[in-house]
Amino acid sequence: MMGAPGAGKGTQARLLASRRGLTHVSTGDMLRQADEAGTEVGRTARRYMNQGQLVPDDIMVGLVAERLARNDCGNGFVLDGFPRTVRQAESFAARGQALEAVIALVVPEAELVERLSGRRVCRRCGTMYHLSFSPPTTAGRCDRCDGELYQREDDLEQTIRERMAVYARDTAPVLEHYRRAGLLREVSGSGDPEEVFSRVTASLQ
Ligand code: AMP
Repeated sequence: MMGAPGAGKGTQARLLASRRGLTHVSTGDMLRQADEAGTEVGRTARRYMNQGQLVPDDIMVGLVAERLARNDCGNGFVLDGFPRTVRQAESFAARGQALEAVIALVVPEAELVERLSGRRVCRRCGTMYHLSFSPPTTAGRCDRCDGELYQREDDLEQTIRERMAVYARDTAPVLEHYRRAGLLREVSGSGDPEEVFSRVTASLQ
C-alpha cells in the first residue's frame, strides 16, 4: 500500500488485511514500537523520523525481511510504508519475494496537509482520529481502548513539508518502478475510508 504521507495508507492497509485475513505489516508502526521499547534500532529511527527523513535502507530491508519470515505472514501480508526507495524495492525483489499488486492512493497535496495536521493517534492501539473529520467521543481519549491520543511529532507542520519533499524525491520513483513492472494500481484516496476501500477492492479484481 503506497501513497504520500496522509494519503490513508495505514487505514486502507489495516482494512484490507482484516477483511482478507492477511497480516498488516507497517514499517512506521514497527519503528515507533522499537522506539517505545528503547531498542538501538528504535533510537536511531526516531532521529530520522522526527526530521521527516527516511530511515536508512539497510536498516529497513533487514527489519522487513525479519518480520516477513515470521509465521503470521505465511498466508499473505499487506505491506504498509515499504518500500519507500527504489533501492528498498530492488533489495526486496532480490530476496525472491513476489508481490501480487501495488496500490497507490492518490490525494491532492492541500488535502494531505489538512489531514496530517489534524491527525491524532492512540498511543495504545494505534487507532487514528482527526480533530475535524473523525473526532473521538471524549477529547484526548481513544473510543476503542481509552488510550491516550497524541500528535505524532512528524505530523507537525514543518516536518509534514519535509516528508512531502522526501516523498516526491525518493518514493515517487518507486511508483514508476512498479508501473513498469505492471503491478501498479492507482486509486483515488479522497473520500471516506469505506468509499476508498471499495475502490481498492475493485482495483484488485
Ligand atoms: P509512516 O508511519 O509510514 O508514515 O512512517 C513514519 C516514518 O517512519 C517515515 O516518515 C520514515 O521516517 C520512517 N519509515 C517508515 N517506513 C520506512 C521505510 N520503508 N523506509 C525508510 N523510512 C521509513
